[in-house]
Amino acid sequence: MAPSRNLDNTAEKPDVSGLLKDAGLRITPQRSAILELMQSLAGEHFSAQQVYESIHTTHPSMSVATVYKTLRSLTEAGLIREIRNGDGASLFDGNTEPHHHMVCRKCGKRIDFYVPANVLNLDDAASHARFRLEEVHIELTGLCSDCAAQ
Ligand SMILES: [Zn+2]
Ligand SMILES: [Zn+2]
Repeated sequence: MAPSRNLDNTAEKPDVSGLLKDAGLRITPQRSAILELMQSLAGEHFSAQQVYESIHTTHPSMSVATVYKTLRSLTEAGLIREIRNGDGASLFDGNTEPHHHMVCRKCGKRIDFYVPANVLNLDDAASHARFRLEEVHIELTGLCSDCAAQ
């Protein structure tokens, strides 16, 4: 059951139609629903399966394939970000600002953090390895405060 919305607070509901339009995407109920979910839970990171399960309660007719397709088009439009997870399933992030992640090895919680990546001379490191650097994404592994307290 969704919490009732305070009608005076329009900032609570992101303007997903405006975002889709600005990105040059056609507004479809599927895109609106998924983008709204990811915008309203900014700071969360979802697998496609988790998106499907969250959306399923309100949009029972949306198939897994549609969820995948929609996530791909939102990623290509730059409205969400895909975090490739090695061989594992990708995660999708509603936070499109360049940022990095601290990942709890116990509960899997993923915490956004911001650091200027250029302090690490990654361009130099990449060029020494003749690696064509496309994106910098730093992932720290450790324990979140909850897990560390146990
Ligand atoms: Zn944890
Ligand atoms: Zn993130």
